[in-house]
Amino acid sequence: MCGIVGIYAHDQVAPDLYDSMIQLQHRGQDAAGIITCNERFHVKKGMGLVQDIFEQRHMERLRGSIGIGHTRYPTSGTHSNDEVQPLWTSVPNGIAFAHNGNVVNYQEMRREVQENRKRYLNSHSDSEMLLQLFADELHRRIGAGPASSLADRAFFEALFSSMAELFYRIAGAVSAVMLIKDRGLVAMRDPHGLRPLVYGQRELPDGRVDHIFASEDTMFYMLGYRRVRDVLPGEIIYIASDRQVFTRRLAPKAFTPCIFEYVYFARPDAMLNNVNVYRSRLRMGENLGKAWKETFPEVSPDVIIPAPATANTVALSMARELGVNYSEGLYKNPFIGRTFIMPNQEKRRQSVRYKLSPQELELRNKDVLIVDDSIVRGTTSKEIVQMVREFGARRVYFASACPPVTQPCYYGVDIPTSEELIASVSTEAEIQEYLGADLLLYQPLEYLVEAVTRKGDHHIDTPCTACLGGDYIHKLDQEEMKRCVS
Ligand code: SF4
Repeated sequence: MCGIVGIYAHDQVAPDLYDSMIQLQHRGQDAAGIITCNERFHVKKGMGLVQDIFEQRHMERLRGSIGIGHTRYPTSGTHSNDEVQPLWTSVPNGIAFAHNGNVVNYQEMRREVQENRKRYLNSHSDSEMLLQLFADELHRRIGAGPASSLADRAFFEALFSSMAELFYRIAGAVSAVMLIKDRGLVAMRDPHGLRPLVYGQRELPDGRVDHIFASEDTMFYMLGYRRVRDVLPGEIIYIASDRQVFTRRLAPKAFTPCIFEYVYFARPDAMLNNVNVYRSRLRMGENLGKAWKETFPEVSPDVIIPAPATANTVALSMARELGVNYSEGLYKNPFIGRTFIMPNQEKRRQSVRYKLSPQELELRNKDVLIVDDSIVRGTTSKEIVQMVREFGARRVYFASACPPVTQPCYYGVDIPTSEELIASVSTEAEIQEYLGADLLLYQPLEYLVEAVTRKGDHHIDTPCTACLGGDYIHKLDQEEMKRCVS
């Protein structure tokens, strides 16, 4: 999972890219980068948080009214500096590329790019492979001459057929923005629309229009953009150098956006695929409350507390549905940045106590229902249950807004291997015992899907639920599966 943004404006674009990436920081904290363009590309990338990478002197160097940015959360490849995006290639024209997603037939396509296309790959990043494959397809269509000699319509036709070939060959999740030197800005999304991409415009006082594409629309308001719409599954949008907009879609396939965006990843104020994330979480809480009443009709907790902060909205709404008090009985320190990679269970355990602090007055002598967005390994949930007990709770119940996570994700989300997923190797009774909870409730899958799709003028066929026991959209090769979660 990563955050991407591309802006084509009429003034220097680097400050708006920086501000956008701050608003996308939750989608990746490992690394970040910006590429802008005037007569040439200007690049600044680094490891860590956006605010730690870019200094005033870097921003002054990032010249140009067009640019793209990326915040990285690596799920394939390595944590190396070489793989920090945006990436760029000089042939044809100069293309800078930022990608959110994951290619599941990477090894096959890597061979294609290196052996048949004779393009050198300097990393094990699927994004680099995608860039080189797209660039090769475009090069075949527009030739080696100056790309600016081609009319915009002809250039767009070349872009569209290059994308069609790309999606004919690759399987996986791709939302991407591209800056093409002397030509403009391009956004595209895979035919299943697995990862989000939103389009916005900003009208200037003189009537000219700036354009933005981003993983979420969370920065639009602050930058003065209005949300136009989502980039549709299988769509390419090209903003030419005269700001003319070209767009076309591939033949529609099942629209299956990732359900975890709504459960956990996306910011609550985002509107993705015409579904408001905050409202979808309220509906998750409502449905979880209904499931509780159906499953445990005799049990009414004294208080519902969220595992902060993603579960706050779900817990609030579940409390309303059950007519029970909502309390923030666990305080999360907002100033904890990243915690360094936790190599073992004991360190992970300490990290939960480092981040969360129980409030005794909200817990002592009460039957407490803890609500979390999901249970992945189970280690965090177990620790939270224990902390709540240590602060005097009489009984501790646990509810997950998400059904059991039983399978890894091959589409760009960092869900561990099946062996590490507690719901893959244990029954619900065993999980309850492991957590030390008096009762355990998982949201039924159909309740979760209903919560996401009930409202909004959306065209979602059914969200991807592969990690929750649903079907993977693509046929997966064993070797590729290992690579995607290694
Ligand atoms: Fe999202 Fe799970 Fe599908 Fe991955 S497998 S895209 S995390 S729903």
